[in-house]
Amino acid sequence: MAGRLSGKVALITGGASGIGRESARLFASEGARVLIADLDVAAGNATAAAIAKAGGEARAIRCDVAHGADLEAAVAAAERHFGALHVLFNNAGIFPARDGSPVDTPDDVFDQVIAVNLKGVFLGCKVGIPALLRAGGGSIINTASFVAVVGAATSQIAYTASKGGVLAMTREIAVEYARQGIRANALCPGPVNTPLLAEFLAEPAARARRFVHIPMGRLAEATEIARAALFLASDESSYVTGATFLVDGGITSAYVTPE
Ligand code: NAD
Repeated sequence: MAGRLSGKVALITGGASGIGRESARLFASEGARVLIADLDVAAGNATAAAIAKAGGEARAIRCDVAHGADLEAAVAAAERHFGALHVLFNNAGIFPARDGSPVDTPDDVFDQVIAVNLKGVFLGCKVGIPALLRAGGGSIINTASFVAVVGAATSQIAYTASKGGVLAMTREIAVEYARQGIRANALCPGPVNTPLLAEFLAEPAARARRFVHIPMGRLAEATEIARAALFLASDESSYVTGATFLVDGGITSAYVTPE
């Protein structure tokens, strides 16, 4: 398929739902061959099948990003099936309901969020960067969040800490690998209409509290974040590296939001 990612191979963690799934569809429709690496392999296979039906190329593999061996297998699968790896989209993430304030978040919840959201990105880069170098360079997109830049209005200390870590780590990777043809950017979405946020927003007070801070007055749709990821993945962003790439409906620009 010809397109903005023609000839490229992309690995997308968490590619079976939400932002990852929309990105997998969009990347494939722009000519990429896509490897979906997700804990939920049934949903990953369903996404790959939908992509194939639309004329694209994708495969799914079961992967827990908290385990380096799973990511190693995912990178190996991308190279084995599609010949190389050019785009590494470390997108998988969790937002557990028990993540709260520093005083009431259980230690095991903090550890779990860091293991998936932060260490998962570290491990993805650890096994993905050698593959990108083998391909002669590439693009890393690490999903952080607007809460890496401003404090969240609701308690979610582990999530916020994990995303701050992703942002800082991404900048360092960008600097270190800039002369070896690898770009690395932190994609920082505002609140997005996906299953990750659904449980949280089901609670009316939390929903109202969140919406009041969004100048646009609405959530993003996953496709709107996928389009930003497509730009970062493609050669159109060839001079963009180390960026805090905010796609947040204006949240981080606001002091007060309009009524
Ligand atoms: P989602 O829940 O719709 O999808 C996440 C996917 O990740 C799921 O398919 C899930 O199975 C997979 N996953 C979870 N844990 C995994 C693990 N250990 N290993 C592999 N796969 C795993 O979520 P989403 O909203 O699309 O979120 C994608 C990314 O965007 C996350 O990093 C999230 O933190 C970030 N983000 C989301 C929002 C939002 O409001 N939805 C805002 C900012 C950032």
